[in-house]
Amino acid sequence: MLHRRRFLQLGSLGLSSFSFKGFAASSPAARKPIVISTWKDGINANKLAWEILRKGGTALDAVEKGVMNTEDSLNCCVGLGANPDRDGRVTLDASIMDANGNCGSVAFLERIKHPISVARRVMEKTPHVMLVGEGAQRFAVQQGFRLEPAKLSRDAEKSYRNWLKKSEYKPVVNIENSKSTAMLAAPTRLENGSWNHDTIGMVAMDAAGNLSGSCTTSGMAFKMRGRVGDSPIIGAGLFVDNEIGAATATGQGEDVIRICGSHLVVELMRQGLSPENACKTAVERIIKIKGSKAKDIQVGFIAINKQGEYGGYCIQQGFDFAVCYADDKNFMVEGKYLL
Ligand code: ASP
Repeated sequence: MLHRRRFLQLGSLGLSSFSFKGFAASSPAARKPIVISTWKDGINANKLAWEILRKGGTALDAVEKGVMNTEDSLNCCVGLGANPDRDGRVTLDASIMDANGNCGSVAFLERIKHPISVARRVMEKTPHVMLVGEGAQRFAVQQGFRLEPAKLSRDAEKSYRNWLKKSEYKPVVNIENSKSTAMLAAPTRLENGSWNHDTIGMVAMDAAGNLSGSCTTSGMAFKMRGRVGDSPIIGAGLFVDNEIGAATATGQGEDVIRICGSHLVVELMRQGLSPENACKTAVERIIKIKGSKAKDIQVGFIAINKQGEYGGYCIQQGFDFAVCYADDKNFMVEGKYLL
């Protein structure tokens, strides 16, 4: 009450903005820099991003370099070492967005090691936001990216062969109209309780307080050829608003696209929700749409706001994310879940 009266008094003297700044100064300082990313691979990706952030580098550089590390790994489900589509070919999707609302993405891209860097070139060197397929590949090569051999990694070859055995089942015919499409494409729970996944999403705020985000994936394993998920779609797999916060998604992309997931999370933060509650509300919306089928899928969101608060939420137990905001603070957080 006293504050309010004082504020009104100062306001009547034309000093309300001075008074407002005074209050803001007493609020806790934003935690920055900070970087968070999906799944356990996020720990290594955060390390590389942190190297850039701790030296005062930009969030944009950090989120690109961070996820490149994951794209490089042949033992991971992201990048060229990942599981192929049902025709045995690895197709990659990626998106990137900066503090000024600039964004770029690639989808259905083959034989290029770092789709995230191609997405950044789309953002910086073209008048477009998204390039797909052959056009994206041609652009990448023109930009100096090497065309890698069209060859599956050993693990991917093995799992593809296994999948082919099962694909002898009838549902493969007209699979696009079959319920089994979802089953084949859905992330599966591993014996250790975690989920098989194919994506890394990362959002960061740099020392200057600017936000950026990146998301890169091979999409769902054994997807139909040509299938593109949420990850390269700005607003679905990734969204950044430098006034509010940034969010990214992982899991069954079709259901993230349905609710414009990452954009929704940022808009919910704009309405005053914490990152965690914004992610939770987005997950609730998916569950409402999916009804009893929600138990068959996994979707996870993570988000940060301008205060450097972070949070994540998912449908089912088993999703986790990595958080880093100091040299000795790079740790996993278990995503809270609703089912
Ligand atoms: N969201 C990705 C997609 O649907 C997959 C994943 O996160 O595992 O393509």
